[in-house]
Amino acid sequence: MTAGADREVSRGGSRDVPDLVRRARAGDARSVARLITLVESGGPQLPQIAAELAGHTGHALVVGLTGAPGVGKSTTTSELVRVLRGRNLRIGVLAVDPSSPFTGGAILGDRVRMQDHATDPGVYIRSMSSRGHLGGLSSATPAAVRVLDGVGCDVVLIETVGVGQAEVEVAGLADTTVVLLAPGMGDAVQAVKAGILEIADIFVVNKADRDGADGTVRDLTGMLALTATAPGGWRPPVLRTVAAHGDGLDDLVTAIERHRDWLAGRGELTARRARRVAAEVEAIAIGTLRGRISSLRGGTLPAELAAEVLAGRLDPYAAADRLLAELTRSTPTPR
Ligand code: GDP
Repeated sequence: MTAGADREVSRGGSRDVPDLVRRARAGDARSVARLITLVESGGPQLPQIAAELAGHTGHALVVGLTGAPGVGKSTTTSELVRVLRGRNLRIGVLAVDPSSPFTGGAILGDRVRMQDHATDPGVYIRSMSSRGHLGGLSSATPAAVRVLDGVGCDVVLIETVGVGQAEVEVAGLADTTVVLLAPGMGDAVQAVKAGILEIADIFVVNKADRDGADGTVRDLTGMLALTATAPGGWRPPVLRTVAAHGDGLDDLVTAIERHRDWLAGRGELTARRARRVAAEVEAIAIGTLRGRISSLRGGTLPAELAAEVLAGRLDPYAAADRLLAELTRSTPTPR
């Protein structure tokens, strides 16, 4: 944790949490930033923040944008913000960079376009690393989405570099997943290899001003035609954009709205969100369990059992059984 984040955590003592949430909900950008820092640093206020937000979440539409580096995600996100702001919606943007060791402050260095929105009080932009979560989205990302939802964002955009696991995870977090491709980047064939066809709700072929865009659209449409869609199922549209000129962005917003309506009409929006929350609850429970296991008998039991296994006196299953037995005997740590 950075010294700055550390200070913020100590300043945001648990008595301050209700006040912080109240100010964030009233539109104070600094309070929103502080809340995200708190959830990102995994501080002891996490449960209280979640409790304070609980009655206010479930409103935001969560849209994931993913694709290879350079396809135009950042430009598209920024243009999407512009179009959505034109409709007077409050927007949260989480830019998750799986390669960045920085969090919070590592703001969008080269994302000049994003800075167009930096002074707009209706837009919260946050960049997060996914350090500590192998190759994927930060484990704090769901909590940060909850903050942005709970403080009143109508739409939360999660932008992440498509590097294998991260794009599958972004699909798990989002109501609608937008996969971006660009001509001449290995595109459609690579997309199939990476399993993208399964996760995309909407395809965008960006840089449609470049040669090869028609071919990319054609390849992708051809591949999609080969995949089985259940009757009444959603067939991902393939859109063209020139994000650098803001072209095609209205169509993208329309496609996102159509997908949301389709989800809602079939009860899928609630079902997707229920799956998301179930995964989040499970992850929290596993985290709690892991913490309790590692602190068993003052933190010595796991090491003792490991020594027994190494010495051949116990097998790993029997050792795990002992850990679990010890857990049920020990009292849960009070929050
Ligand atoms: P990201 O790495 O996926 O976030 O991609 P960026 O949004 O940073 O864009 C990468 C580069 O492509 C930048 O230089 C953009 O200006 C450029 N770019 C973005 N959209 C378009 C487009 O529609 N057409 C062209 N020709 N260039 C674009």
